[in-house]
Amino acid sequence: MPLSDTVGVLPGVGPKRVAALADLGIVTVGDLLFYFPFRYDDLQERDLATAVDGEKLTVKGTVVTDPVIARFGPHKVRVTIRLQVDRTVILVSFFNQPWLKDRFHRGQEAAIYGKWNAGRNALTAMRLVATQDQDAPSMAAIYPLSQSVHQKFLVSAIKTAFDHYADEIHSVVPEQYRQRLQLLTDRELVRQMHFPANPAEATAARRSAIFREFFLFEAQLQAIKQRDTAQVNGLRIPFDNQRVRAFIRTLPFTLTNAQKRVVNEICADMRSTKHMNRLLQGDVGSGKTIVAAICMYAAVTAHFQAALMVPTEVLAEQHYAKLSRLFAPQHVSVALLTGATSAADRKDILARLRSGALDIVIGTHALIQKGVDFNALGFAIIDEQHRFGVKQREILRAKGLKPDVLSMTATPIPRTLAITAYGEMDVSTIDEMPAGRLPVKTLWLHKQQQPRAVRMVAAAVAAGGQAFVITPLIAESEAVDLKNAEAVYADMQQTFAGKATVALLHGQMKPDEKDTIMRDFASGKTAVLVSTTVIEVGVDVPNATMMLILDADRFGLAQLHQLRGRVGRGDKQATCILVADPKNDTGVSRMETMVATNDGFKVAQRDLELRGQGDIFGAKQSGLPDFRLGDPVGDFNILDTANKVAAAIFAADPDLQAPANVTLATYVHRRLAQAESLN
Ligand code: ADP
Ligand code: MG
Repeated sequence: MPLSDTVGVLPGVGPKRVAALADLGIVTVGDLLFYFPFRYDDLQERDLATAVDGEKLTVKGTVVTDPVIARFGPHKVRVTIRLQVDRTVILVSFFNQPWLKDRFHRGQEAAIYGKWNAGRNALTAMRLVATQDQDAPSMAAIYPLSQSVHQKFLVSAIKTAFDHYADEIHSVVPEQYRQRLQLLTDRELVRQMHFPANPAEATAARRSAIFREFFLFEAQLQAIKQRDTAQVNGLRIPFDNQRVRAFIRTLPFTLTNAQKRVVNEICADMRSTKHMNRLLQGDVGSGKTIVAAICMYAAVTAHFQAALMVPTEVLAEQHYAKLSRLFAPQHVSVALLTGATSAADRKDILARLRSGALDIVIGTHALIQKGVDFNALGFAIIDEQHRFGVKQREILRAKGLKPDVLSMTATPIPRTLAITAYGEMDVSTIDEMPAGRLPVKTLWLHKQQQPRAVRMVAAAVAAGGQAFVITPLIAESEAVDLKNAEAVYADMQQTFAGKATVALLHGQMKPDEKDTIMRDFASGKTAVLVSTTVIEVGVDVPNATMMLILDADRFGLAQLHQLRGRVGRGDKQATCILVADPKNDTGVSRMETMVATNDGFKVAQRDLELRGQGDIFGAKQSGLPDFRLGDPVGDFNILDTANKVAAAIFAADPDLQAPANVTLATYVHRRLAQAESLN
């Protein structure tokens, strides 16, 4: 298929640029064409009379002075001109584009996009839209970029790709549905996403593109489901019921009814020839790990191997420590395999996995790399499964004997949404907490009461506890987030000087730096951890009794609940303090919900009710798969329709043989093949 040509075939895209594009995930011409902008600059001319201070807009006028160039600081250059717009003369400044000096002359017309300063009658220019001899485009697409891929190059590469390949873009949504749903053809949506003639075209293209993205996702799930039902000869794991019961009796507590129920559901799948693909959801602290342990043990009694894959090294180590202690009396062998495992240990572990000497392996992505071969992998668990893609889950499922797979998530998802987002899986739910657990006390304070919050943190630390201090999420800029976190960190260091150790954790650290910081906190070396939201889900620090969340109104409900779940994991009373002055009713409702309930399902339900279209709290926080364009919550109706259309298509034509489905078939089968070939 020509769209799978490498971008290197395009004129102007040499080997260096091929490599740079690959870093953005763009390998083929198709990837490039479907690499969409995240916003547009509106380049349509505006009337200055209606302009608001700080607004970004395009003005058109006549240059009335020769350009003046000024150098300041070691590397800074400013080019200024005066531009007459209607009857007003405004000052326009361009920064660090010295060559523009030669582009302007008196009497010339120019359209310029920039940020309006009403007080000074000045425009900080961001883009020269056109001079009089050029046609002015009305919208400019703005793309996510990297160090080595710039806007200008990307735009021209996409233009070239579209000029050469437009005829090869075929619609993945079969014609009948495409027309019924009034969606653009894929060719038209690609054109309008990149080069919209006006805002209406951009909006229409986006709607079609979101549907397309959801539809391909749902179609892939349908294809997996289809393949699984075709494979009636899944693995049968005839475990030893007596031994499993005996193992459960060795636990220091009795299982909750919900834990018993889900163990039974999972075990029923194992015993049958059905290929298990099940999602286990349960709130933080509901006891999923022990359920995982029991089921892995069951597989081992049937002489199969089991694997547990988690998203981070810290989490892997923690599970390993817990489970090896638990399994030691049962003579079950357990190993830990991560990126940090030494070459010698790795070699030894791989050999034991291959020979069958090793029963259980716990690890990170390292488990699905080439060279990891099992003797008899029968059961695989993926913890915090939304942190892995469909592809990675598929790689694990395709290993050796095609094991039964259990995915786990600590982020409760309301049922309707779970079915749509994880349509290929059966769902088990732990909806009950172990008895005797002290619920986390949640408090909402206003910003002016922040000193009181800090005093409470200090008291908790003085009493021997540990504390998290979470700093706000400032939309879209990690750099700004970091600055903020550093300021809070400095504050806390002052507060705790001579009393306790404070550490800082943020998203721009390397993974091993983060792991070290987390490890020091888990071991009690540091007492106060200031962190942006990168703080790892699932990490268990029983001694942490205090969670302080600053500017809590900047977080979504799902995320607040996850953060709160980091404390209250031991037997001491824990507290979560939200500091926030919400700016609207929704924000107030979020805080009130947090104070009112500790139940993750209730929080999730309320989250859905409170969220609107275009909410800044994206899907990333809600335990749902990541989409590039669509938001599975805000765009739920589109997701739901995509799910139904995909199901209808597969019901009528399970193997996608019909001519109307030929483009869809190409996409779906290629993706599945990719997942399996990585194995
Ligand atoms: P999560 O679902 O967040 O992974 P864990 O499995 O880590 O929860 O369990 C949280 C804590 O509760 C652990 O210390 C675990 O030993 C304990 N636990 C699990 N099940 C029970 C139970 N039925 N009764 C009492 N404590 C339990
Ligand atoms: Mg867990």
